[in-house]
Amino acid sequence: MASVPSVDDDRLASLIDTVEARPSMTVTAPATDEALGSVPRCTAADARAAVESARKAQGEWADRAVGDRAAVLDTVGEAVLDRQRWLVDVLQAETGKARADAFEEVLDVAANADYYAREGPGFLASERRSSMLPIVTKAVEHRHPKGVVALIVPWNYPLTLVLSDALPAILAGNAVIVKPAEGTPFSALAAADVLADTALPADCFQVVTGDGPELGPPLIEHADAVGFTGSTETGRTVAEQAGRHLTDVSLELGGKNPAIVLADADIDRAAAGAVDDAFANAGQLCVSIERFYAEETVFEAFRDRFVSRTRQLTLGADTDWATDVGSLQSAAQLEKVTAHVEDALDRGATLLTGGRARPDIGPFVFEPTILTDVPDDARLTDEETFGPVVRIESVPDAEAALERANDSRYGLNATVWSGDRSRGESLAADIECGTVSVNDSYRTVWACLDGPMGGMGDSGIGRRHARQGIEKYTEAQTVATQRGPPMKHPAVPHRVWAGAVSAFLRARQRLPGWLR
Ligand code: NAD
Repeated sequence: MASVPSVDDDRLASLIDTVEARPSMTVTAPATDEALGSVPRCTAADARAAVESARKAQGEWADRAVGDRAAVLDTVGEAVLDRQRWLVDVLQAETGKARADAFEEVLDVAANADYYAREGPGFLASERRSSMLPIVTKAVEHRHPKGVVALIVPWNYPLTLVLSDALPAILAGNAVIVKPAEGTPFSALAAADVLADTALPADCFQVVTGDGPELGPPLIEHADAVGFTGSTETGRTVAEQAGRHLTDVSLELGGKNPAIVLADADIDRAAAGAVDDAFANAGQLCVSIERFYAEETVFEAFRDRFVSRTRQLTLGADTDWATDVGSLQSAAQLEKVTAHVEDALDRGATLLTGGRARPDIGPFVFEPTILTDVPDDARLTDEETFGPVVRIESVPDAEAALERANDSRYGLNATVWSGDRSRGESLAADIECGTVSVNDSYRTVWACLDGPMGGMGDSGIGRRHARQGIEKYTEAQTVATQRGPPMKHPAVPHRVWAGAVSAFLRARQRLPGWLR
């Protein structure tokens, strides 16, 4: 039976009450398609006011020692683990995802808090830089906070994409304003509740709930940097607006992610990993794999094991830890997924398993679906489905697999399966995607927080995680101090000066790299 955990927690309710009375918007529980609660429909003026008050609070925060700021991240890491039950309840209530998928969000936040508390101060430390005249000129690069960072986030990972992205920005000394997706505001409010118990000044983390087209433009205009995660289509609009105001922007967008199964792969392991790659979070995961290419000698074995494992998955719209695949998040999602499958079947694709909505389990539940013989003019060939639907295809060899994998305008994530690790790694490097896992599902590369994560092509601009994930919320500043005579033409004819400098540069080019 569908069940919805309560979000009617006193602390959450009081957070919502702190926003002045506004017209409200109703949030629906995907597990029942019934109202879960309501939040204020904030206006453009609210968004501007949030940036203004955040700006006032941010200076004091940036002035604190980086160690004190890192201590806030440690507090958050501990708090999300301590309060995981409540957070997972809130997540499940507004997304309909399986409990294990909801827990992964908590895990991700705790891991990011730990990573940036440990490594972040080093990424932010001022660093010596070399200069044209090494001993004579001292050069230092400093990192300053941008100021106010606006995070505009989607509904599929509404806690991870709020806190895991906010934490590096906060550590860098910024204030953060979050604009959650219309359908999933409670996780962002829960994040605010977690941060309210830390030493972060109150206005340094704020949530404005409401419509994207109303709140996006004022945030993009008035914030100093925008971290946008969402569809490629909206990402283009955000980028245009950011360009107009010269607001720094990073864009984490959609994908049509490929996996390659080579003939030498452990097929059992590849099939088990394929189930994770395809159906974790009911396929509503930016790094989900939606296209599989297996070499023809192993295609049938891979197909049969992948299908058989998929049929064993437990579907549910409930709070049971045993559920493997939860609900889709909205009626719109169900409609899109259904349309993609119907279109592929109408064009002659073969259904290997799944293919149906399951209203008997939950109003927006859709079966994990595997299709083959999908013609190239089908919508799901290069449109992101963002649901539990994948296509598998037999290819003659690794070269053909690579060609198919790279035949996409997107370039977010990929997986390679091979019995020869170095062959797998070398093929991975040729895939035009920002991240690639070899011999495991997306989890391996996602969990590698010290490696940047983001998209090529239509999958985005900029990276999260690693040094890049915090540097993007900073301004780099170089301070160069001249210790010797001024760096201007000495009192000799310009021609003589030009000859002497050219000789110096030529001599330097001949030195070994370490001496230059
Ligand atoms: P979406 O683009 O519809 O919405 C994302 C956010 O943008 C929401 O908060 C929405 O309110 C806001 N928005 C809408 N119109 C806006 C406007 N004109 N100006 C500013 N903001 C606006 O995306 P979605 O459907 O919520 O999310 C699914 C998409 O997100 C998928 O394409 C998925 O691949 C992508 N995604 C990418 C990553 C990644 O890391 N690359 C992670 C998660 C999801």
